[in-house]
Amino acid sequence: MNNTKRLEIFHRFHASNPEPKTELAYSSPFELLIAVLLSAQATDVSVNKATKELYKVANTPSQVLDLQLDGVVKYIRTIGLFNTKARNVIATCQILCDEHNGEVPDQRDALERLPGVGRKTANVVLNTAFRQLTMAVDTHIFRVSNRTGLAPAKTVLGVEKALLRFVPRDYLLDAHHWLILHGRYVCVARTPKCPECPINDLCDYKNKSRIGKNGKLESGLLRQNRGSEASSG
Ligand code: SF4
Repeated sequence: MNNTKRLEIFHRFHASNPEPKTELAYSSPFELLIAVLLSAQATDVSVNKATKELYKVANTPSQVLDLQLDGVVKYIRTIGLFNTKARNVIATCQILCDEHNGEVPDQRDALERLPGVGRKTANVVLNTAFRQLTMAVDTHIFRVSNRTGLAPAKTVLGVEKALLRFVPRDYLLDAHHWLILHGRYVCVARTPKCPECPINDLCDYKNKSRIGKNGKLESGLLRQNRGSEASSG
């Protein structure tokens, strides 16, 4: 994919959604950090449901510490891996209180030292709460970057670096949110909604889905597999 196409892709994302936002509910860097930490292998909807009640009683590190482990578990037990996540939340709050005056640090090294916080979570917090030019790559962004040809790479870190290099600078701050939303609702994993995709003409994916004779969306991969079966049989 060339840079003219890349620019046009983000131009269109921006035109249709000038201020993209995370779907996680939060009102402070701390609330965002905990929400992202809880969101691993869980939907944003399930995290928001849990944090809505949790943050009513505790939305600072010291208040969460006051709840203790059992108290945190009570609020997040509807989320996958809640036991491990609750332990990480408590340990993270302890470090925030002991080493950062109860504040969320705005440096990658310090964030990645927090239990349960990896590179992706640190990137989300740096980008969304502190408006730094970082790129968190989740499963949706990894897929979209490779399918479209926007920033192809074999590894998550490779895609992160390619996006940082290829996304036009004016759009870098919001690129993470646009790409997540695009992957979540249009360029979905199994059968991407290519016929209604706003960047269809710019996308390099070879197996675009299309509307079949029966009027239903037909996966390009399935079509291709059928073709190769027919030619080999
Ligand atoms: S055309 Fe299809 S594969 Fe390409 S970005 Fe759009 S939905 Fe994804």
